[in-house]
Amino acid sequence: MLKLGITGGIGSGKTLVCSLFAQFGVPIYNADERAKWLVNNHPKIKADIITHFGESAFQNNTYNRAFMASVVFKDKEKLYALNDIIHPIVFADWKSFCDENSSVPLVIKEAAIMFETESKNTVDEIALVYSPLNLRLQRVMERDNLSEQEVMQKINNQMPEDEKLKLAKYIIYNDEQHSLIEQVLHLHKKIVK
Ligand code: ATP
Repeated sequence: MLKLGITGGIGSGKTLVCSLFAQFGVPIYNADERAKWLVNNHPKIKADIITHFGESAFQNNTYNRAFMASVVFKDKEKLYALNDIIHPIVFADWKSFCDENSSVPLVIKEAAIMFETESKNTVDEIALVYSPLNLRLQRVMERDNLSEQEVMQKINNQMPEDEKLKLAKYIIYNDEQHSLIEQVLHLHKKIVK
C-alpha cells in the first residue's frame, strides 16, 4: 500500500483534489480536520493542553481556539509545545487509519503543513496542489468571507510555494489551465498500476 501525502498552500484546492481521488475509492485522511476533532475528543491531548496552557485553553468543554491562537501566535516555543502535544497523537491516529485500510493499494493524507514538519515522514510520496496566488486569494476570500489582507497574512505564514515545488514528487496544477480530473486520473493510474 502506498501512502500519498497531498499538500498545498491555503486555498490551493487540496480538499477538492482529495474529493476527486475519493471518487476512485481512495480512503482520505484529512489531517487538519482530524487534529481539530482529536483536540476536543482525545483525553490525553486535552489534559496535556490544560496542564501546559491552563484552564482557559478550554471553554464550556470546547477547545478555545481564539485564546490558544493568541498564545501561540506571539511565542514560537509555545507553538512547538502545543505541536508536541498534538502531533504524536495525530500520527498514531493516521497509523491506525492506514492499518484499517491495509487491503487497499493507496491511501491519502491531506495536510496544509507537510514539508515543514515530521508529517512528511509519515507518507511515502508527496503531491503538491499548486495554484497561483491570485486564484488562492480570490477563492479563500470568497469561501471564508475574509479580506485580501487577512488571507495574505495566512499565506505569508506558510512556506512559499516555490520551495514546495522543489520538494514535491508530483505536482497537480489547479490553475484553470490544466484539467484537474485528468491529472488526478493520470496520477491515480500511475500509482495504482
Ligand atoms: P485550505 O488549506 O484552506 O483547507 P484547500 O487547499 O483544501 O484549502 P479547497 O478548500 O479545496 O482548498 O479550495 C478552496 C476554495 O476554492 C473552495 O471553496 C473550493 O471549492 C474552491 N476551488 C478550488 N479549486 C477550484 C477550481 N478549480 N474551480 C473552482 N473552485 C475551486
